[in-house]
Amino acid sequence: MKNVILAKSAGFCFGVKRAVDTVYEQTGKNEKIYTFGPIIHNEAVVEDLEKRGVTVVHSTDELKTKEKGTVIIRSHGVEKAIYEEIEKLGFSIVDATCPFVLKIHKYVEKYSKLGYYIVIIGNEKHPEVLGIKGWCNPEETSVIETKEEARNFNISEGKKICIVSQTTFNNNKFKELVEIIQKKGYNINVLNTICNATEERQKEAKEIAARVDAMIVIGGRNSSNTQKLFEICKNECENTYYIQTYKDLVRSEFKSVDNVGITAGASTPNNIIEEVQTNVRNEF
Ligand code: SF4
Repeated sequence: MKNVILAKSAGFCFGVKRAVDTVYEQTGKNEKIYTFGPIIHNEAVVEDLEKRGVTVVHSTDELKTKEKGTVIIRSHGVEKAIYEEIEKLGFSIVDATCPFVLKIHKYVEKYSKLGYYIVIIGNEKHPEVLGIKGWCNPEETSVIETKEEARNFNISEGKKICIVSQTTFNNNKFKELVEIIQKKGYNINVLNTICNATEERQKEAKEIAARVDAMIVIGGRNSSNTQKLFEICKNECENTYYIQTYKDLVRSEFKSVDNVGITAGASTPNNIIEEVQTNVRNEF
C-alpha cells in the first residue's frame, strides 16, 4: 500500500466551482442554455453538461444560428464587445466570470481611459487574456509572455504604463518580466493580479513534490494552470506524471515507489481526484 499525500488545494478553485455550479443551476430552467466556450477545460464535465442540454458556442456568429436562450459567460471572462453582441442578438446573459478576473477588467478599463498603456503579462492566446485585452484600448495594449518580448518592449517616453497579469501566470516569471520593463525607466503602475488560488496550489505542489518519490498531476491537456503545475513538480521530482484520469497511470512506473504526491489543476473535478487517490493507495 502506497503512502499518498493529496494536496489540499488540488482541484477546482473558487472561480471555477462558482462557474460550474452556475451552469448546473441554470440547467433546471425551461430554456436553451449555452456556455460561451467550454465552462472548464475538462471533457467529462462538458460532456455531462451536454447531456443536460447545455450547448457550447464559440462565437457570437455561431449564436446567430441558435434558438434564443441564456448564454453563460465562463470564469475566464470575455471582451466587453462580446457582452454587447450577445445582448444585441437577443440572448440573456448569466455572468459567471470569476470576480478576480472582473476586477482586472475594471482596472484595465479605468487605466486605459486615463491614458495609460496597458501591459498584460500572460499568454496572448489564452481566453482570459483575450478577454482582458477587450477592456483596453487595442492601440495601446501589449501582451508579454517571454523575457525576449519584455526586452523588446518599447513605447514612447513619458507614457505611463499599467501592468497586470493573467491570473494563472507563474509568479516568479511575472516578477522577472516586470523587472525587465521597470529597468527601462518607464513610469509604471504594477498590479500583480495572479490569483492566490494558483499561487497556493503551486506552492503546495512544490512542497509535496520535493518530498515524495513520485508525483501525479491531474488535469486536462489544454489547461494552462495544470501544465504549469506539472513544470513546477517536474523540477522538484523527476518522476512526475501528467494524467487526465487514473486510466492514464502506468502501474509499473510506481513499482519501487513508496510515497506518492497528488495535485490537480483548477479544472479537475473532485471525483476524478478521488478515483486517482483510491487507485494509487489501494491498487498500486
Ligand atoms: S484561478 Fe483564481 S482568478 Fe482564476 S478562476 Fe480560479 S479563483 Fe478565479
